[in-house]
Amino acid sequence: MDPVSERTLRELIIGWVLERAEANGGFLHREELLGFRHGGERLPLIDFSRGIRNPAAFSATLSIVSSAHGPYDDVESEDGFLHYAYRSGDPFGGDNRKLREAMTTGAPLLFFRKEQPNIYTPVAPVYVVEDYPEERAFVIAFDEAFRYFGDLRDLGEPQRAYARRLAKQRLHQPAFRTRVIHAYTTRCAVCRLHHGSLLDAAHIVPDSHAGAADGLDGAPTVDNGLSLCKIHHSAYDQNMLGISPDYRVQIALDLLAETDGPMLRHGLQEMHGRSLHLPARRGDAPSRERLAWRFEQFRQRA
Ligand SMILES: [Zn+2]
Repeated sequence: MDPVSERTLRELIIGWVLERAEANGGFLHREELLGFRHGGERLPLIDFSRGIRNPAAFSATLSIVSSAHGPYDDVESEDGFLHYAYRSGDPFGGDNRKLREAMTTGAPLLFFRKEQPNIYTPVAPVYVVEDYPEERAFVIAFDEAFRYFGDLRDLGEPQRAYARRLAKQRLHQPAFRTRVIHAYTTRCAVCRLHHGSLLDAAHIVPDSHAGAADGLDGAPTVDNGLSLCKIHHSAYDQNMLGISPDYRVQIALDLLAETDGPMLRHGLQEMHGRSLHLPARRGDAPSRERLAWRFEQFRQRA
């Protein structure tokens, strides 16, 4: 394939993946990734067994997959980059050749974080920006600009902070959203709305909460999350809606007293006293301790 066609197809694929993920609530199922078709032909977007997808017709890598073990992945690094180990064998041959080609040409690629079997959070585009031969790893960044910064180990503090912030926005927050929305079978915990694109993962204890004094932190774990539709998420964050540790929805008194149209009536007032829609797996249920801490903030406002 000529370079322009390859670039165009890459961008088309990245756009398709991000659109599908948005419709699903931030993730794709394995079958969607394996079943992608282009020009009437099957073009799988992941290599299920090897974790790196190098289509024969492509000069550079199309996608890499990494499996999550716990909330963070083993290729994720504190420095805000992904350290992707060379594939076995010759560092200049095999799969490594096409990764190196992506580094040379700046070709955008797809990174998939496998949260659990068959469920993938896409992050795209990402770029292979550097090679650490002594670590036998390629460095992958969330912004192409890092190709031009020289040795990434010598970055100034503002650039380091930018890299870490990007990793949080582009990878850690979307991965948290996938885990939470998938745990709640793509439904709002309050109203059961079943449209992934209208769902968020809300933190129970906010991620800004350091938690030294009370032992509770804003960890990106499913038990610190709630799958909520956009309106219930905003209402929860503003303490207009509370969730008690026994999994009941409460609406603030002043909202209950108000008279207005159907959104207030059906969307908020009628949720008062309802029990929460819980995750399918008991281990994913929201932590009662965290809910209690948060419910106290709601009560102080209400
Ligand atoms: Zn809702």
